[in-house]
Amino acid sequence: MQRREFVLALSLLPLSAVGIAHGGGSCPVCGGNLTVVGAIKDDTSRPSINLEVWNRSYHGYISEPFSSNSQFCKKCHFAYDEISMKWRRASEAPDSFFVPLLPVVRGFPITESRPKNLRVVYTQTFSGQDASQGRIESVGFWANDSELLRSKLENYASSNDLALHFYTALSMPGQVSVKAETPNNSFKPTPLRGAA
Ligand SMILES: [Zn+2]
Repeated sequence: MQRREFVLALSLLPLSAVGIAHGGGSCPVCGGNLTVVGAIKDDTSRPSINLEVWNRSYHGYISEPFSSNSQFCKKCHFAYDEISMKWRRASEAPDSFFVPLLPVVRGFPITESRPKNLRVVYTQTFSGQDASQGRIESVGFWANDSELLRSKLENYASSNDLALHFYTALSMPGQVSVKAETPNNSFKPTPLRGAA
């Protein structure tokens, strides 16, 4: 890119996007104030406010691809992944999302026949720095594997337009990891404060 074109491209950026790049600005999901991940202390006496960032497997360290400089919303607890260009949050609490989970995800049949020490994790992502490129949600958990379970979940997924993935691991005999994910749904982000 020629220098003149680069300067032109910069001048076309809305002021709010420049603000976000430097740690200020408002959240496109909820309109709350943005900070950075490094400014938040993970309270390990309580459930993680965002398992994508603090998954608790690494003794409180921030999970990749997030870093202490990643954008983070103090209100809805979404974090911005600059590599995939997605706002992401994961939680064990399905009702803790600012934008309620889609009914097909919230109502996904979680079997009681599963290892109770492992989490059921719900995720929600909004694509694009302004969250205008769509919304994808998922639910994932480990369950006691059986043909009956798989066919029941396959029926639910196919009748609700969910992609369903089963995964087994040698370290988890008799268990199956289940993940169900929505297609990309449209999402209308909260207008950024200061945007033209
Ligand atoms: Zn927010």
